[in-house]
Amino acid sequence: MLKVGHTVNRPGRKPGDPPIAIPVPEELETVPGIPTNQREVDWYAREYPLEAFNSIIERASTDWYRGIQGANKQDREYFKEHQKIYRPMLTAANQSGDLPPTGKATGEDVSEQIKTRARELGFVEVGITAYDHHYSFHSSRDWVKYDHAVCLAYAQDYELTQAIPSVAAEVARTGTNLSKGKASLELGNFIRSLGYHAQVHNAEGKGSVSIPMFVNAGLGQLGACGYLLTPHEGSRVRLTMVTTDAKVTYDQPVDYGIHAFCQVCQVCVNRCPGRALMRDKIWWRGVEKNKLYFKRCRPLMAHYTHCSVCMKVCPIQKYGMKSVMEHYAATGQVLGKGTHDLEGFTLEDKGYFGPGEMPSFDHGFFDMPRGSSDEWAFARLKQKVVVAGGKVSDEVLEEFKRDLTVALARGQNNIIE
Ligand code: SF4
Ligand code: SF4
Repeated sequence: MLKVGHTVNRPGRKPGDPPIAIPVPEELETVPGIPTNQREVDWYAREYPLEAFNSIIERASTDWYRGIQGANKQDREYFKEHQKIYRPMLTAANQSGDLPPTGKATGEDVSEQIKTRARELGFVEVGITAYDHHYSFHSSRDWVKYDHAVCLAYAQDYELTQAIPSVAAEVARTGTNLSKGKASLELGNFIRSLGYHAQVHNAEGKGSVSIPMFVNAGLGQLGACGYLLTPHEGSRVRLTMVTTDAKVTYDQPVDYGIHAFCQVCQVCVNRCPGRALMRDKIWWRGVEKNKLYFKRCRPLMAHYTHCSVCMKVCPIQKYGMKSVMEHYAATGQVLGKGTHDLEGFTLEDKGYFGPGEMPSFDHGFFDMPRGSSDEWAFARLKQKVVVAGGKVSDEVLEEFKRDLTVALARGQNNIIE
């Protein structure tokens, strides 16, 4: 039995459920939240501001990936239907910050009212912290209007998620995004009825990298897989924020023991079919974390329905943080590690892989376009000119013009799903 350093008390999973207590063994204690060097965070935010990844800086591979997914007629039809419902939500979120309050503020702290309503609307985790502009996307740095961030996590269906990667799990993901979108717009209405402004952050390509704020709000810690690991559902949540000028009190970051536990566990690192996850942590933009090799991950996501094996095999996702930490405190072992139940997964064309078994991929599987759409258009032009021995034909120039026109149009409308 390991010595317990401290215990984290959290509300139950649903309104009315009893609270839970998560024991954190002393040997897993590090810092609340995530080890951070604030001077480095400041410097990177100033010199190399963040940008929307899928819709701008890696847009070329996003379009490539959408193309592969769109090749399947059934998937394409499903995606179209999903877009019909999802698009109006993006538009509503995009405009929500300009809506006036509908009620009169009393001047009282409304944190508990907001949290209670958020949980009634179905969010499994809710916490409040300062909106941190260090993590804003450069192209929408003035989009966020209010200082306080209500951080919200909506749980994805448990059973369907265990079928990752599959169309069923993908339906669970997109369905959760719809539920989350609807609930966050409702929460925005509620905050306005209290007499304050509310800006809903479902607008794709706008806003910020949000996980650092969820960590600051005490809703979990960053896992080696790159997802936020929340107490009840681990990574099986979809995140959004509502920023507001309401009178609120901030929550504080928590040490759940995850920062150290991931270095012991390593199940996602070992099971990732793309070998895209790093075993060791590095300092990156002022934060100590496990980094993802994006170019090893995206091809798996493209060819295997969003992949997400790293979510499926995480014990915190599967059993919850309380059970995993209790088991570790009692035995020094990672719950489920080495079992088919936790570690097994199936890739459609390759079959089932149990613990210790891994797929291999043909040469060229990991090739994909990189950079923004216009960078990729230019890279293609260079390639063709090199192949032609330095000659720039009219035909090549015309193709470049076409590629660039498409790229610029995408740049103006950077929304994707
Ligand atoms: S999505 Fe798949 S390839 Fe990417 S990190 Fe997770 S397990 Fe690895
Ligand atoms: S699988 Fe293990 S190492 Fe990976 S995120 Fe989950 S707890 Fe951390």
